[in-house]
Amino acid sequence: MLTDYHLHLRPDEPDTPPERYFTAENVERYRRAAAAAGVDELGVAEHVYRFTQALDLWRHPFWREQARDDLDAYCEFVRGAGLKVGIECDFVPGAEQRTAALLEARQLDYVVGSVHFVGERAVDHEGWDVWDADGDADEVWRRYFDAVARCARSGLFDVLAHPDLVKVWGRGRPLPSRDPRFFYEPAVEAIAASGIAVELSTAGLRKPVGELYPAPAFAELCVEAGAPFALSSDAHLPEQVGFGYGRAIELLDRLGVGEICVFEGRRRRLEPLGERVGGGS
Ligand SMILES: [Zn+2]
Ligand SMILES: [Zn+2]
Repeated sequence: MLTDYHLHLRPDEPDTPPERYFTAENVERYRRAAAAAGVDELGVAEHVYRFTQALDLWRHPFWREQARDDLDAYCEFVRGAGLKVGIECDFVPGAEQRTAALLEARQLDYVVGSVHFVGERAVDHEGWDVWDADGDADEVWRRYFDAVARCARSGLFDVLAHPDLVKVWGRGRPLPSRDPRFFYEPAVEAIAASGIAVELSTAGLRKPVGELYPAPAFAELCVEAGAPFALSSDAHLPEQVGFGYGRAIELLDRLGVGEICVFEGRRRRLEPLGERVGGGS
């Protein structure tokens, strides 16, 4: 079994209305790309902040600018298209109960929990760049992984998205002076305690860092912590479905991980990890 559960049906750009991207034709493009890459199961995980309902969780200016679509119309479309219904939901500290209410009111197959922001600034968004406000890499990394740990422990999510996203810019931003494993530690403890699945995401291969999320040293600690893995590309275009899966499967093989998570109605089971068929590296 190969899955791609963290799909966006459109780029993270302005002027990408659902009527243009949430269409049968566009889904068909993703399905064809999945078939070519040997990916068996697809699920969509649109950003929560693209829905007006997300303003109940946070009213950050970026969210206010992005919140346009209706969450229930999205869920209905994705289910009707025969894809697994997921959502990529940011962990918003202090909004745990409102997040639970938003998620529990929908029929979802899984929820991908993510951390993009530390405080009011983002680790991966140039418009809200944390590095403009705080150039101390050790401090940014510490705060980022602390948020990841809280995200895991919240119990709100099924999968922990791109767990070391803070590295996205690679050498384009300051790097911490300590060994990265120092920063992973609290997150790994939270992963072990919560039982959350860890996303092995190939998206980092397309970013300046040019690496999988999580880094092999982090992934190894997750395996030791007994965490299961969920496999995804974080595609924003059909041609990114299953992108870099050869590298992901190679890492899982090397770590002795022979199974991946499959989700349905927010229940998880493990299936044998499949082999890549064609479609990119
Ligand atoms: Zn994300
Ligand atoms: Zn995403």
